[in-house]
Amino acid sequence: MDRGDVLIVEDEAAQAEVLVWNLEKEGFNVRRAADGSEALLLIEEAAPDVVVLDWMLPEVSGIEVCRRIKANRETREVAVIMLSARSEEGDRVRGLDTGADDYMVKPYSVAELVARIRTQLRRVRPASAGEVLHFEDITLDSETHRVDRAARQVKLGPLEFKLLATFMARPGRVWSREQLLDRVWGREAMLDTRTVDVHVGRLRKALMAGGESDPLRTVRGAGYALG
Ligand code: CA
Repeated sequence: MDRGDVLIVEDEAAQAEVLVWNLEKEGFNVRRAADGSEALLLIEEAAPDVVVLDWMLPEVSGIEVCRRIKANRETREVAVIMLSARSEEGDRVRGLDTGADDYMVKPYSVAELVARIRTQLRRVRPASAGEVLHFEDITLDSETHRVDRAARQVKLGPLEFKLLATFMARPGRVWSREQLLDRVWGREAMLDTRTVDVHVGRLRKALMAGGESDPLRTVRGAGYALG
């Protein structure tokens, strides 16, 4: 799996460029939005793991972007780290229930921000940290790539394994076909969303090969969810 998708929302170009450069150097997949509306569009296109969100933005404010991320069932698991200038809203960020997962006051150290992004990634993407995931009678070991269901081992191809790891990292979350394409096949893959249906079908077949029930749910008009 890749090292994590980070969206930087910052209207000041120089600050944004420093962040993009440093985060790409750390191996993250980085996208950038210069205002709140663009941020919401990019998040809708493909939900990142972590949003680094400046409070003071033109048009839609950072706080409104955060509120909308956390109000949407499809994106509320996205981790939000808010940035604010001490002279502006530093104290208010602390006082308000923004729904943000973390916040930093400008000027901040980039190394500290990277550390906090990693902390959020461990929370939202445990499968990338070499942990063992459980869902009902299914166990997935992301280090040995072994999957078991009840007493039997489940044989999966690499794409089916990544699909299951994605589902098991966030049980109950509804993933759109586009989000799954992005997460499992990668941002550059120019594939039809029907590819996702084919591989979800294979995953289901493998998980139910012992006569077990179907743990995956097809959500009409939305995508797929585990449980
Ligand atoms: Ca700003």
